[in-house]
Amino acid sequence: MKQAVEPEVEVGLGIFERSCVYCGARFRVLADRPADPMRLWPREYECPACGKQYEIDAASHPEVQLLHGRTDGKDDRYQETMF
Ligand SMILES: [Zn+2]
Repeated sequence: MKQAVEPEVEVGLGIFERSCVYCGARFRVLADRPADPMRLWPREYECPACGKQYEIDAASHPEVQLLHGRTDGKDDRYQETMF
C-alpha cells in the first residue's frame, strides 16, 4: 500500500556565518536556497567591512548582516589583485 507523503525538502533561507579571510570580520549570510537545484546559481556577496567578494549558490542575491567588525585593525578596502 502506497502512502502519499510530502517529501521533506529544505526550502527557504540557508543561514550561515563566516569570517572574512581578509579582515577578520564576522558576518551572517542569508541565502535563498530553494529545493530545486536548477534555480541555484553562484551569487556574489561582499564582506560588509572590507568589501571582499565571496560567492554562494543561491536563488537570489544573499543578504549579509555584520556580526562583529574587522579584527585586523585597518580600515582599508579589500582590493582584488589583478594581473
Ligand atoms: Zn572583510
